[in-house]
Amino acid sequence: MGDETSQADCCIVGGGPAGLVLALLLARRGRDVTVVDRREHLAQGGPAHAPFLSPPSLDLLQHMGLLDALEPYGQRVRQVREYDTMGGHSTLDYASVPGGSYPYALSVPLRAMAGALQDALLREPTVRIMTGTSVQGLTGEPATGYGLDLRRGDTPVRVESRFVIGSDGKFSALRDMAGIETEVFAFDRPAVMVELPLPEGTPERITAHRDHEGALVATMPVAEGKLTVLWAADPDAYRRIKESGIGALRSRLAHAVPALTDLLAANLSTWEQVIEVHHHVVRPAHWHRGNLGLLGDSAHGVHSFGAQGLNLALGDAVVLSDVLNSAAEKGFPEPLAAYEALRRPYVERFQQLQQSLAVLSSSPRQPVRDSGMYAAIAEVMTLGQPEVTPLHALVTSA
Ligand SMILES: Cc1cc2nc3c(=O)[nH]c(=O)nc-3n(C[C@H](O)[C@H](O)[C@H](O)COP(=O)(O)OP(=O)(O)OC[C@H]3O[C@@H](n4cnc5c(N)ncnc54)[C@H](O)[C@@H]3O)c2cc1C
Repeated sequence: MGDETSQADCCIVGGGPAGLVLALLLARRGRDVTVVDRREHLAQGGPAHAPFLSPPSLDLLQHMGLLDALEPYGQRVRQVREYDTMGGHSTLDYASVPGGSYPYALSVPLRAMAGALQDALLREPTVRIMTGTSVQGLTGEPATGYGLDLRRGDTPVRVESRFVIGSDGKFSALRDMAGIETEVFAFDRPAVMVELPLPEGTPERITAHRDHEGALVATMPVAEGKLTVLWAADPDAYRRIKESGIGALRSRLAHAVPALTDLLAANLSTWEQVIEVHHHVVRPAHWHRGNLGLLGDSAHGVHSFGAQGLNLALGDAVVLSDVLNSAAEKGFPEPLAAYEALRRPYVERFQQLQQSLAVLSSSPRQPVRDSGMYAAIAEVMTLGQPEVTPLHALVTSA
């Protein structure tokens, strides 16, 4: 037994964007929520990237009353243009999508999002945020309900709650503690990224280039005045470039996108500027066990191609809060099973597409001809899951 014991309707392990959005959606409907995170500060440190929020996520944040606080940090993108190897191109234009809620996607620093969410949560009397706190283990079992053994500094803490949510990222400890088997597919092509200053007049557009080797190099205007250049690198080619020096990387990127030549020459000079990300598709056999549910990356790691990890996580949070609120208010049975039944097939279709693309992996699963890649996921990127967006109307803004 711990030295401290607390109770909640829902205990969320992981104060990333998914966990914080779920906490706010629940608290605004009167639920007692505890959020646990091992980091000391939710809005400092942590990942530095600035994901693109798709129109359905912007619609959700607008309904939550948070979008106005985030827009000033953001960088809009109105189109995604994909060039093929012959120089032809197709364009996804957010404004032209029938039924689309916003004519753009918005890159927002994760830290700005965490700050806005944390501020909103601090105004909710039914929320308790426990930072600097890590999970030691689960108590109980699925049939009777799990609780949590935590440790904050030297103090053991036990939390009993009706629902326990694992929102602790793609390598979720909670998922392992609950014994949920998980398949992990590692993309062997690293995402090699450099951030350059955004030249004035750059179109509000993501541009994906396929070069003669079939490789993908994308340029993306992102928040804080940056232009991210991403190369889905062939591992052998990248190893050779690393051996040759930073000039070889400049040449490789400029070869794929000649318009970048001068910008790269002026701004890319050391390997410290290069970010190498290894993405995984993470696919648990179940998204819930007993009273424990998985949310966001812990339920479904994805590749950053298509910019959907966070957007999928927010869709999860909407559905999960809806079923958990219905369980509390109307006795809705089996809310976690209903959540999984609605979300998992949709998310897994997206994961399957990523795993089938030869530009992301040299051993794709059920390979498809990967021309028109963005066209294949345009609906996910612009409209989200059709069953989820109507639930935004139920969200309260304060
Ligand atoms: C380079 C890059 C670019 C991306 N671009 C996009 C994009 O454009 N659009 C998009 O939608 N997505 C994008 N993503 C994905 C997106 O960032 C993630 O999907 C999203 O952050 C997942 O949120 P989460 O809350 O589920 O998990 P996380 O952000 O991983 O949060 C997990 C939290 O759990 C805490 N935690 C972990 N273990 C424990 C523990 N044992 N005890 C207590 N706390 C714990 C961590 O401290 C963390 O705060 C990108 C990802 C990367 C890497």
